[in-house]
This record gives sequence, structure tokens and C-alpha cells, in this order.
Amino acid sequence: MRRLILLGATGSIGTQTLDLLEKDDAFSLVGIAIGHRKSAIPSLIKRFPSIEAVSLLDKDNIEELQGLFPKVRFYFGEDGASRLANETQYDEAVNAIVGFAGLLPSIEVLSKGKVLHLANKESLVVGGQLIGRLIKEKGGRIYPIDSEHAAIAKCLSSIDRKDIDKVILTASGGPFRLMSRMALNGITPAMALAHPTWKMGNKITIDSATMMNKGFEVMEACYLFDIEPEDIDIFIHPQSLVHSGIRLKDGSYILDYGKADMHGPIAYSLSHGEKIEGIRKVSSLDELKDCDFMAYDPARFPAVGLAIDSFKQKGNRGAALNGANEMAVSLFLEGKLPFKEIEKVLEEVLKKIPFDPASTYPLLASYDSLARQEAKAFGN
Ligand code: NAD
Ligand code: MG
Repeated sequence: MRRLILLGATGSIGTQTLDLLEKDDAFSLVGIAIGHRKSAIPSLIKRFPSIEAVSLLDKDNIEELQGLFPKVRFYFGEDGASRLANETQYDEAVNAIVGFAGLLPSIEVLSKGKVLHLANKESLVVGGQLIGRLIKEKGGRIYPIDSEHAAIAKCLSSIDRKDIDKVILTASGGPFRLMSRMALNGITPAMALAHPTWKMGNKITIDSATMMNKGFEVMEACYLFDIEPEDIDIFIHPQSLVHSGIRLKDGSYILDYGKADMHGPIAYSLSHGEKIEGIRKVSSLDELKDCDFMAYDPARFPAVGLAIDSFKQKGNRGAALNGANEMAVSLFLEGKLPFKEIEKVLEEVLKKIPFDPASTYPLLASYDSLARQEAKAFGN
């Protein structure tokens, strides 16, 4: 049995991972990390009695939990998840934490040369270079959970790289894809959180509406598959049935088509790219007749270009972009920043923070804080 830790166990990806682990006796879940939903912990430990270690952000009432579960090791605070990843014995880790907070745990896992099932794309957006170095030095491995990247990995597994013309990255375009930038006045958080095809955590749902998510996914794909942004074509595909793929030099396409259900990509990652049966509901090919693909307009979605530039420049650019974005998204969700201003904040913060080629964790963390601080000044 493979010993697994699950970081971000109460979120959208975390709970879908638990669904799979419950039915899979290849894994023993030995550690979980969560943010604030402490009330979820007793039932999680009862559901998975193999849990030896738990991390949570708040310390309040931790003694009560310790009293209830005396054999479980509890960690708390911002560095709890990475300490758990450092001190627990495990073979593989799922990182489903949202945001910059996921980077240090990813570094811990890969410093031990372990297998990392990665949903936390911000780890690569901010620390792609650092993570690349760690994998080279320590021999760890990443299996992507992001649906597009799992789809690309699946397509790549069956073809020769020399035959590839382009990687095709599909995007739903979010709820406002048919609206011009002019028409984006008055968008409320409730409107932006109503994603047409996926049910996900709040932060990634807003990133989908600005297509920051797609920009991050270009960066993620470049780091994961050792390609450049020019090797990728982005298409808006509102039905989210084609999850990405490859165009071959002979003009044909190999695309991953199936129901929009994250259990599929999570299972693909957990099984190290084995094609497992019975996870995804089967789609009828009839549905393909309703599949649309449109070129995306870079001027309508400027966040994608900002991500591509950040990838090309490297160093601190990913940290600056991601930190500014996390703050701008929070301000929008709190009603302190208009939706339409999110990309403007990113542009301004990137202009203010000078380029630094460094990519050590302490420096990336300091640029993350600086970018948040600069972005916060745009809130009202
Ligand atoms: P979510 O908000 O639903 O869940 C986030 C999880 O992280 C929760 O368990 C939360 O308690 C935990 N968390 C937050 N801050 C933490 C901290 N500082 N320390 C420890 N735990 C913390 O988010 P999600 O939608 O599940 O997304 C998770 C990650 O997966 C994101 O990076 C997202 O971009 C990526 N992703 C999500 C989906 C999806 O379908 N939801 C698809 C592809 C990629
Ligand atoms: Mg995705």
C-alpha cells in the first residue's frame, strides 16, 4: 500500500480525491492538511482511521481535538502543512491547497524526492524554476491533476514528440466570454462565481472568468512538459468536453474528450497515468456535434498575455503576478474592487515591482508579500 498525504483535504479537489481514496485500497491516507474548516476534522479521521497527522491553520481548540484523537499528531499555523510534509512518513502527496500557500509544501515533498500529485498550479506559476531544479536534484516526480494537463499528458503518452505540431489548450472562457470589456461594468461576485461548466473553489472560478487561470495553465504546461508558450494554441471551448490535446504535424488532432468531472484527472494522476476504468461517466459522441472551438482574443483577456510574459522573463515575475492576482481576487470578492479592474491591478503591480532573476523560496515569498501589499492599495 502507498502511504499518501492530502494537502487541502476539505476543498473541491480535496473532497473529490477523498471520494476516490475511499474506494481504492492501493493507498493508505496518513496525513491531511486543511485551512480553516476545523469542524470537518473529526469526521475525516473517523472516515480514514489511517490518518496519523493533521494540519490546520487555527490553533483555537486544538487541545480539544488532541484530546479526542490522542494518537494523531496535530500541526497548526501557516507552516503546518509543510511541517507535516516534512515530518510524516509517506510515499506520495496530493497538493490541493489553493494559492501561494501551496508552494512550500510542494517544495517539501519534492525535496524528499517523492511523487507529487499537483493540483496547486500556483506552485509552478511562482516557483517553476525552483521546482525544476529540485526534481533534477532529488529525483521526485509530478503528476498533474489539472484537467488540461492530465489530458495533454495522456495524449503525449501515445505519440512521438517529434510528430507534434502544437499543444492545444482548451478554455471554457468563463461566464463572460461573450461580453466585451466595455460590458463588464457591474459584475458582482455572485455573477462571476457562477461558472458555466465546472464547480470549483472560489479563487480558481474568478481566475476562470478573467482567464488568468488559462494564463497560469500556459505557465504550468511549459514547466511540466518542457515547452514554450509559442508551442501552445489556446481555444475557447465553452462546453468543456474536450480537455486539451495535441495537433500533429500531419494535420490531425489527438484530443481528450469526456465529461467535465475532476474525478477523471485525479484518478489518472493517482494511478501514475494508467487509464483506469469506471471513474468518468461516459459521454456519447453525439455530444461532440455541439462542441464549439474559437480562437481567444488576447485584448479581451489580457491576463493570459501577462502570464506568458512572466513565464518568459522568469525570476520573480510569477511571484509578482500571482501575489497581485490573489489580492485582486480577494478584493473583488469582498466588494472592494470592480471585476473589470482586476487585470489593471496586475499590470500596475508588475510595473512597480522590478525584475529580479532570483528564484529561491525566501525571495519568492518576499515578492509575493510585496505584490499583495501593492495590489491592496487599489482596493477601496
Ligand atoms: P478550494 O478553495 O475548494 O480548496 C482549497 C483547500 O486548501 C481547502 O481544503 C482549504 O482549507 C485549503 N487551504 C487553503 N489555504 C490553506 C493554507 N494556507 N494551508 C493549508 N490548507 C489551506 O480550492 P480548489 O478549487 O480545490 O483548488 C485547489 C487547487 O487546485 C488550486 O490551486 C486550483 O487552481 C487547483 N485546481 C482546482 C480545480 C477544481 O476543479 N477545483 C481544477 C484544476 C486545478
Ligand atoms: Mg484547468
